[in-house]
Amino acid sequence: MTGWLRRLFGGAGSADWTRGARPRCLAAFTISAARASERPVRTLERDLACAACEGVAFTLTSHVRRPAGEEPDETGVAATCEECGRSELLFDEVVHGYDGELGHWSHRDHPGVPEDPITSAGGSVTVAFTYNVEADELAQVGRDGGVAPIDLFDWIEVSHGGRIVWERECA
Ligand SMILES: [Zn+2]
Repeated sequence: MTGWLRRLFGGAGSADWTRGARPRCLAAFTISAARASERPVRTLERDLACAACEGVAFTLTSHVRRPAGEEPDETGVAATCEECGRSELLFDEVVHGYDGELGHWSHRDHPGVPEDPITSAGGSVTVAFTYNVEADELAQVGRDGGVAPIDLFDWIEVSHGGRIVWERECA
């Protein structure tokens, strides 16, 4: 059923392989077991919990880069735990996803900070990653670029309380 995900993850042989199947941008969070589907394209979904306190309610904030003398550049999203206040970057298109991982945005690499609120109240957060490219091709691109195939998603959706509040094309 999820052979494509297994190929992306490269975790065949591990009984608990889906627990580790995550793009590295989620490394700072505790994550649910993978939900994978092929509708409408191959999609991997993860619910987030705080790595410090296991809280599952977050507020979301835009992550903004400010190049000197240029317009602010909203490149990502950060999540702050309602329970303990821990705040972590959830995604940054300059370094994550297909283009970010392969260095296509390296000219935009200015320091970034969380700034504008995306949500005002706490709510559960689900992140969905989609992969339009075939798993075998992604594996090849990953080998050539020194990137894990699962990091080469081309779309990300962040849902808050069951509603999509932020999304970005990554390729
Ligand atoms: Zn927490």
